[in-house]
Amino acid sequence: MAELPANSAGVEVDRSLSTRVRVMLPLPLPEALDYLPPDGAMPPEPGRFVRVGLGSRRLIGVVWDAGDGEVPVERLRPVLDILPTPPLRPELRRFVERVAAYTLAPPGMVLRMAMSVEEALLPRAPRRVCAITPAGLAILDEEAGPGQKLTAARRRVLQALHDDGACSTAELARRAGCGAGVVRGLIAAGHIGEEWVSSEPSAAPIPDWDAAGPQLSADQAGAAHRLVERVAEGGFSVTVLDGVTGSGKTETYFAAIAAALAAGRQVLVLLPEIALGAQWLDRFKRRFGAMPAEWHSDVSQSARRDTWRAVANGQARIVVGARSALFLPFAELGLVVVDEEHDASYKQEDGVCYQARDMAVLRASIAKIPIILVSATPSLETVVNVSRDRYRRVHLPRRHAEASLPRIDLVDMRQQRVEAGRFLSPPLVTALGETLMAGEQVLLFLNRRGYAPLTLCRACGHRFQCPNCTAWLVEHRFTARLICHHCGYAAPVPALCPECMTAGTLVPCGPGVERLHEEVAARFPQARTALMVSDLLQGPRAAAELAEAMVEQRYDVLIGTQIVAKGHHFPMLTLVGVVDADLGLVGGDLRATERTYQLLQQVAGRAGRAERPGRVLLQTYMPDQPVMRALAAGDRDRFLAAEAEARRAAGLPPFGRLAALIVSAGDAEAADFAARALARAAPQLPGIAVLGPAAAPLAILRGRHRRRFLVKADRGANLQAVLRDWLARVRVSGSVRVQADIDPYSFL
Ligand code: ADP
Ligand code: ZN
Repeated sequence: MAELPANSAGVEVDRSLSTRVRVMLPLPLPEALDYLPPDGAMPPEPGRFVRVGLGSRRLIGVVWDAGDGEVPVERLRPVLDILPTPPLRPELRRFVERVAAYTLAPPGMVLRMAMSVEEALLPRAPRRVCAITPAGLAILDEEAGPGQKLTAARRRVLQALHDDGACSTAELARRAGCGAGVVRGLIAAGHIGEEWVSSEPSAAPIPDWDAAGPQLSADQAGAAHRLVERVAEGGFSVTVLDGVTGSGKTETYFAAIAAALAAGRQVLVLLPEIALGAQWLDRFKRRFGAMPAEWHSDVSQSARRDTWRAVANGQARIVVGARSALFLPFAELGLVVVDEEHDASYKQEDGVCYQARDMAVLRASIAKIPIILVSATPSLETVVNVSRDRYRRVHLPRRHAEASLPRIDLVDMRQQRVEAGRFLSPPLVTALGETLMAGEQVLLFLNRRGYAPLTLCRACGHRFQCPNCTAWLVEHRFTARLICHHCGYAAPVPALCPECMTAGTLVPCGPGVERLHEEVAARFPQARTALMVSDLLQGPRAAAELAEAMVEQRYDVLIGTQIVAKGHHFPMLTLVGVVDADLGLVGGDLRATERTYQLLQQVAGRAGRAERPGRVLLQTYMPDQPVMRALAAGDRDRFLAAEAEARRAAGLPPFGRLAALIVSAGDAEAADFAARALARAAPQLPGIAVLGPAAAPLAILRGRHRRRFLVKADRGANLQAVLRDWLARVRVSGSVRVQADIDPYSFL
């Protein structure tokens, strides 16, 4: 906008007051910034994607609302251009605001998740392709007759174009196996023409919601009916689909998906990243005859671009994805399903710290649509919400068909004699032998990657520590490296102890899956064993192939970490051995017992899913722990009641509120200085307790020194307001990061 003459400034400013717009940029800024409309144009409506200048940069942002007019108009810059992308719907803008307010993240950083693929915001440039002309067709026809007028290469080019359709010059030359000059010659001769075509991908096939599913059992049909009812009713509701592993929860919620698709609405299914396997996709495809759109870390950038656009323009009817799929720009979302809702991987721990299951409920409430939370072991939060009548519950109490739930026994390791360096107790070895004899399969579960969790020198006691973190390095024999599981640091295993320089003195301590694999191979040399560990499998396809091989019984024993616990269905698997059931209980995080219960119940659920009954052996040094007793007795409700009581007594979530503040800096002094400043300004309010600062258990992570505060509050307290106010009163230097984590899951 032109400079304003001083005498008319009042009037002019008044006019521009109503036309200035606030643009949210995907940056860690506290709020949206004011801009003027593009020169001579009307102000873009809220939701439009626009390009603006900031400093010397040009950025894409979203028009949020009308400007509030605090910055003098002379200092405002105009919007550079308005992109033709479909606008970000009010629903998604409100969602971004609410997530930011809840997590204390800058709204721009939440917006960034909603516009994560920048190429998706720009129309794809049209491509130039070659197509055969009528003259070209004619000459190709004549070729069939006598009197060859074309060289062999030219004929191949025309034939390829005729057979396989339009494509670029380079592609055509490649298809015909000749140089681009031949193609150019044909263009000059008028046998090939060039044209511009849009390069938007063609719409993916639409799932067939009318396709018949399997005949549902009475329980399943009843549950499906209630879910379909919610969809038909519309409006916001939360339903918990609670059923033991193998009860047919997936089949049941497929009915709700079919109903939503039939009603012309889009569907979002969230799965924990590691459960996003080919098994789920194949099942969906079998039922609905088309693939859903996928959204997770293994999806290529160009597929993401296409998916983002297809979701925004309504072509993609169903998306299955990991937590970040929540921020996709659905045009007409009608149903959300969160499978394995208890899974801790729904909690994002860095950047914007959010719990995707909880935010999915928020998104459904803003969109006024039903959401289904699915689990065999619902989280305590969800169970409490059911008891408070906030969520409805639909229950599937039995496994499908004849399958029964496996029998779970504890092996008291205090009573067992196990040789040094070996980890399988005699009862587990016996059960393994029996199962193999019967021609059935075994799953051994140990949630520890690598060969051994700790390597030390027998001569001097030296332990290998990560140079960037307060953590021991883990030996991985397959790759012959020592690896930090926190930051990824890796070094070769040295021949000599770096401390005392003795050779051959390094010894592994404790079990990892690779070491367990060695033990099984030594004890059962005839058994065909496989390892299922994320670091040895390249991507979800590899995991799917291994799962396939298990189903086809090409392996007898599968050894794995938690990647094996999720979703797999192996009909001939009848024995599950949990090598160290106590592993998840160490660490003192408030959900440790709950998580142990869920994980072990889920692993146990892999056994006996078809006709043959399954059994489960849990090796534990703490057989009297309530969680172990509950697992053995199959008494989930008693476990949940006891766990709820313990949390209520301690004022912990979901009966009280918690937040963590993590202060980190490149050097220890800066971190301590900032932590002390925060401590001095800590809120002193009734119902709020601030604990800390303390060095975090992972005191150094990726080279940053970390201090933690834990804030405990009554359930009714406005924790976010308290924290916002606290943080606003303390200035920290630029090298220090203060990260808030509302309702933390990790206490490291
Ligand atoms: P969950 O999700 O509760 O673990 P699934 O939906 O995976 O259970 O069902 C377990 C197994 O039983 C799957 O192989 C599924 O195909 C099969 N199944 C479940 N319900 C039916 C049904 N009504 N008819 C046929 N097969 C079924
Ligand atoms: Zn490290």
